[in-house]
Amino acid sequence: MIAAHPPILRLDAGGLPVSWIHWQRAAELIFADRVLWSLGDAPLRIQGGLRGGQRSVLTIDPVIATREAHRNPAPDTPPLTNRLLFARDRHTCLYCGNRFPEHELTRDHIVPRCQGGEDVWTNTASSCKRCNGDRKGGRTPEQAGMSLIALPYAPSRAEALILSNRRILADQNEYLSALAPDRDDRWN
Ligand SMILES: [Zn+2]
Repeated sequence: MIAAHPPILRLDAGGLPVSWIHWQRAAELIFADRVLWSLGDAPLRIQGGLRGGQRSVLTIDPVIATREAHRNPAPDTPPLTNRLLFARDRHTCLYCGNRFPEHELTRDHIVPRCQGGEDVWTNTASSCKRCNGDRKGGRTPEQAGMSLIALPYAPSRAEALILSNRRILADQNEYLSALAPDRDDRWN
């Protein structure tokens, strides 16, 4: 029951997204009086212990902004990981356009590393093993006569938070989407 609660979106004092946190961490922040404001129409209701014969209930909004601005604000571009890369590309091979489960995808370097290509968001694409290994190999798409079906981009922090949470709540999605650039044109 408790484990089923979706994560809480933590913001800094300026309203910028920081991370997903477990509801227990959110409860600690509430009790420590570090929550400045919160929002969301559907708060989580956590059953507490008995107090004077009544069961206490803690309500936690889906989005909470906490007191101290972080001394080292999180970089706006998240680190490149396969999990986030495949989520960015909707688990679609950017060469053949087919969808694959995570374990059948690879991180393709568009300009291969052996030709000086960097391991960065804008030089990486989700690729199935066949397209990456058999068809493309150590070549650029041009050299291999292949083309990308979408332009690789570096997701912002807000986008990365959306992509990394499959149980995102409507209010959380709305908040983060308002901060994320519009990318709809890239999938035409
Ligand atoms: Zn493919």
